[in-house]
Amino acid sequence: MQSTLKYLDIDYKSFFNKKSGFPKFKSKNSKQSFTIPQHLLIKDNKLYCPKFKDGIKIKQHRKINGKFCVATLSKTNTNKYFISIIVEKEVQHMNKVEKVIGLDLGIKDFCVCSDGVVFKNKKILSKYEKKLKRQQRIVSRRQKGSKRRKLAKLKLAKIHEKIANIRKDYLHNISNKITNENQIICLEDLNVKGMVKNHILAKSINDCSWNEFINQLKYKSKIKGRQIVEIDRFFPSSQVCHCCGFQNTTLTLKDREWTCPNCGTIHNRDYNASLNILKQGLNMADGTAVKKQVEVSSIEEPMKLEAQSSLILCSSLTY
Ligand SMILES: [Zn+2]
Repeated sequence: MQSTLKYLDIDYKSFFNKKSGFPKFKSKNSKQSFTIPQHLLIKDNKLYCPKFKDGIKIKQHRKINGKFCVATLSKTNTNKYFISIIVEKEVQHMNKVEKVIGLDLGIKDFCVCSDGVVFKNKKILSKYEKKLKRQQRIVSRRQKGSKRRKLAKLKLAKIHEKIANIRKDYLHNISNKITNENQIICLEDLNVKGMVKNHILAKSINDCSWNEFINQLKYKSKIKGRQIVEIDRFFPSSQVCHCCGFQNTTLTLKDREWTCPNCGTIHNRDYNASLNILKQGLNMADGTAVKKQVEVSSIEEPMKLEAQSSLILCSSLTY
């Protein structure tokens, strides 16, 4: 109750400050959860919190070290229960490294790096599309409110969960690798919302989950002490030749390879783009990028007030 009221207060405040819309009621189908702000204890693989005096058996994934802030208990659509605990602690940055990198995100290859490494697009959704469709059909055939419909729905939710888990695992692997190895990471500032309006590409764009990937890169580099440079979305990264700077305005989305008419270099479209992004990012890293970063951090300020020098880390447990 406490924290629900607190969240409601935050929502109303941001509504009256015209930062967001009028608060909506939570849908029954959304993630079921509640927050515990205090009196939490974990002892001998058991969780003790208010109303659960006998303790709940848990499987602990990570040791908790740091000052306890809040815990959230939640239930997924596949009937799994999680508790995630937010703690406050000092985080030490990783040692600085020399390497810098430019990333070009795409559909054909998920991510092409300026050092030549290519991360393939796994196209997870298309692999499971048939299964999803079949299960969806079964659900719609079952009578509303029946037991069998419930079971079919659970099966469907499990497929969705599996897709999400595979995707998350893949993205975490890549973002971990990139933030471990590079000091400055240059990216394009993508307008994913605008791109999804293209109905032909919408499905494959959503399947890539670029936004999730960029978010991961951002918070991981914050923890590890790396720098992220975002390049303007109107910078013509694929059209410019990285050798001589000639801009080929006739290039279309279909052209995967092209030859520079000015200097004769044969370019792989995505690799060339990643090199341009790196170049532009390093130029910006001296002056304008720092400016942009200041702007971003000033927006985030109100949320960070409680933990100024220390970052908040999450650890989650299951039972
Ligand atoms: Zn050229």
